[in-house]
Amino acid sequence: MDIQALRAQFPILDQQVNGKPLVYLDNGATTQKPVAVLNALDNYYRTVNSNVHRGAHYLSDEATGQFEGARQTVADFLNASREEILWTKGTTESINMVAQCVARERLQPGDEVLIGTSEHHANIVPWQQACAATGATLKVIPLHDDCSLNQAAFEQLLSSKTKIFAIGHASNALGTLNPVKAMVAKAKAAGAITLVDGAQAVAHFPVDVQDLDVDFYAFSGHKLFGPTGIGVLYGRREQLEAMPPYQTGGEMIETVSFEKSTWNQLPYKFEAGTPNIAGAIGLAAAIAWLRQQDRPALAAHEDALLAHATERAQACDGLKIIGTAANKVSVLSFLLDGGHPADVGMLLDKQGIAVRTGHHCTMPLMDTLGIPGTVRASFSIYNTLEEVDRLFEGLEKVKTFL
Ligand code: PMP
Repeated sequence: MDIQALRAQFPILDQQVNGKPLVYLDNGATTQKPVAVLNALDNYYRTVNSNVHRGAHYLSDEATGQFEGARQTVADFLNASREEILWTKGTTESINMVAQCVARERLQPGDEVLIGTSEHHANIVPWQQACAATGATLKVIPLHDDCSLNQAAFEQLLSSKTKIFAIGHASNALGTLNPVKAMVAKAKAAGAITLVDGAQAVAHFPVDVQDLDVDFYAFSGHKLFGPTGIGVLYGRREQLEAMPPYQTGGEMIETVSFEKSTWNQLPYKFEAGTPNIAGAIGLAAAIAWLRQQDRPALAAHEDALLAHATERAQACDGLKIIGTAANKVSVLSFLLDGGHPADVGMLLDKQGIAVRTGHHCTMPLMDTLGIPGTVRASFSIYNTLEEVDRLFEGLEKVKTFL
């Protein structure tokens, strides 16, 4: 793989931070954007910008064509049909949509919602709120010592009371991959509606919602080399048809009178108001770009980055890896003896190295582990083995300040 040629497509990477070449290792928070995406956004606003689904003039037709073409691109990417792809602001809105439109409608006292210990707040709080509103109970699958989900406990927790099973594909805090296909199958057999939070998965490996046989799949464009403010909720057609609208107003209606309104067909029933047209087109450009790459080679490269980082971490005095499960995406979460994660992050930043520190929006996970947070290096396709080395050279310097 020609990593330098790939990096050249991400202009932001070529800069100095605090007098040092930038080492961007915060890809779990957001990924950088290739020129193909920057050009798509620029081209849209320079030559196409118009409102969609109005159809009165050339530009509107053009914008609608690109916007709906983008939906088809996402549908192909997930192996879904275009009516099953809803545009949202991101994973957070996608999960909230299901929690509000499905959970609140269908949950009753005595029902249960089942999630994992390592979930992002976006896959906890919406369910907590739905439970509070309906009298249902939130149940949590515990972890093994290596931070993988305890599958035996999962099977014990599953019952006919489990109405919703919502699980992260990969943990943003630790990188741990969950065996979602097998878990979804078991939850489905118990009669639950299933949702997978794919925010930390889609940039790392192909996802096929038919193969997962899941009811809902959520992800964010900005973690997939696309723009911020655009995300996706895949919903199985029968589920979406049974769901009431999320927000109401323009676009999502078929007819309106002062007495009553009727809803538009899928997917528009869930898309009130002018959508993020440029965002959708930018995300489709990111997906098209990614699909032109050699994805198995990219995945092997990420595996090599993680293996190298893990090896160096194991050899680094005073460093403790948090989350040692075998199946992980390219995330290394750790603690350094005597160094608060925030201080370690700040001292790395002084050397041009960008990591994330803190609880990573997984406070219940940090409480379970009895730690305030971690330092997280999250790698992407454009990172290099030399950058991994820069991280560990940086950490040696950090140690001299602690
Ligand atoms: N779930 C996971 C696993 C995440 O990593 C994130 C983002 N950190 C989210 C949900 C929320 O995504 P967004 O902020 O893009 O809505």
